[in-house]
Amino acid sequence: MSAIASSLQAVRRRIATAARDFGRSPREISLLAVSKTWPVDCVLEASSAGQRSFGENYVQEGVTKVLATAGLGLDWHFIGPLQSNKTRLVAEHFSWVHSVERLKVAERLSAQRPEDLPPLSVCIEVNVSGAATKSGCKPEEALELCRAVSGLPRLKLRGLMAIPDAADDFAAQRVPFRQLRELREQIRAAGLPLDTLSMGMSGDLEAAVAEGATIVRIGTAIFGERGHA
Ligand SMILES: *Cc1c(COP(=O)(O)O)cnc(C)c1O
Repeated sequence: MSAIASSLQAVRRRIATAARDFGRSPREISLLAVSKTWPVDCVLEASSAGQRSFGENYVQEGVTKVLATAGLGLDWHFIGPLQSNKTRLVAEHFSWVHSVERLKVAERLSAQRPEDLPPLSVCIEVNVSGAATKSGCKPEEALELCRAVSGLPRLKLRGLMAIPDAADDFAAQRVPFRQLRELREQIRAAGLPLDTLSMGMSGDLEAAVAEGATIVRIGTAIFGERGHA
């Protein structure tokens, strides 16, 4: 078995164990393999091991991999910071965007989504407590942004995403994930049917599963440490 195939198996086992520990079904949790910085050969290796969904942070690098793997039936998610002048390539080549934090970007994605593709699935990125990265809208802005995005014709609002800072302690890791879960509950109570919580990375996926993650975004634990290839 290839190194990537066995890492994938180990990550799927971590997800299944965490799901069982917290009374959830592993089927509620999808694994997004974050292939940023890794060559397309690594994507092909993961694809041979049964992985279908991949995440990329950089537009040009992502589009190159989308085109190089066309025909394999892979599902590509854009998860990085998105400037409004780069939206067209994302609207044309990806099936999800997890990192929408401004209405202007959402409006452009909707206007640029090709008619022959299904609506683009989007998550609103929220800057929950303890996120040093300045990305994401403020929690108190999330409902209004969700409302506006849900009215855009070529987008399908799916849920919320967060990238909290790394924390070593399990209880501390759960805090921002719980905030995101509670925020989703408030937005659902306001009538918007969000089905997705995109949260959890290599170091904290168990805490994210404990708090209700439906997509975990895993790079290092599958492909290895970036910059140490
Ligand atoms: C790089 C990245 C990941 C994957 O992080 P790992 O710690 O390598 O698993 C997940 N989400 C986002 C937004 C990223 O930029």
